[in-house]
Amino acid sequence: MKDMPYADQKGRMYPYGEFFPPELSPFAYNETIAQEYFPLDRNGTLGRGFKWKEPEEKNYQVTMKTNDVPDSISDVKDSITSEIIECAHRGECNEQCTRVFRIIPQELSFYQRMELPLPHFCFSCRHAQRLDQRKPLKLWHRKCQCAGEKSENGVYTNLSQHTHTAVHCSNEFETSYAPERKEIVYCEGCYNAEVV
Ligand SMILES: [Zn+2]
Ligand SMILES: [Zn+2]
Ligand SMILES: [Zn+2]
Repeated sequence: MKDMPYADQKGRMYPYGEFFPPELSPFAYNETIAQEYFPLDRNGTLGRGFKWKEPEEKNYQVTMKTNDVPDSISDVKDSITSEIIECAHRGECNEQCTRVFRIIPQELSFYQRMELPLPHFCFSCRHAQRLDQRKPLKLWHRKCQCAGEKSENGVYTNLSQHTHTAVHCSNEFETSYAPERKEIVYCEGCYNAEVV
């Protein structure tokens, strides 16, 4: 395998130790977990020589529009389990939207017991929304936001005296919190001084 590595259509080599070439995969790129960690659009996927799954034509008849789903679980009738509910995205997102979804009886009784409202999105869109809450697999080089007695933006007041005293901390580091995020990011020393 080292002498005669497999070459794919794009000329990429796969010698001993490499993972299988994507072109041998029975799944398209946007059907795999890869799309969740390294999202690509249709052109980006095909341009790299990977397969892309087009949405399937489905002819479900929507029996309940998203807006007709009651806001409060106490207004939901048991007959909701026979409704075909429209996803609020209507297939217009890039998240493998199934366009419609149903509520199964066990699910309904869970929502009733926990007094939770019914979802307005299909399970694919709900999955994508949960994943969006995670930080990306990416690091940014940033400065500690401890300004001495308070955080740089003045929102947080330190509970203890830090080793850098009342001047701005000069530490820099890599963090998965993007600079535009609203969370206050401290270096390890400042963080530990406050939390531990
Ligand atoms: Zn959806
Ligand atoms: Zn610091
Ligand atoms: Zn500090």
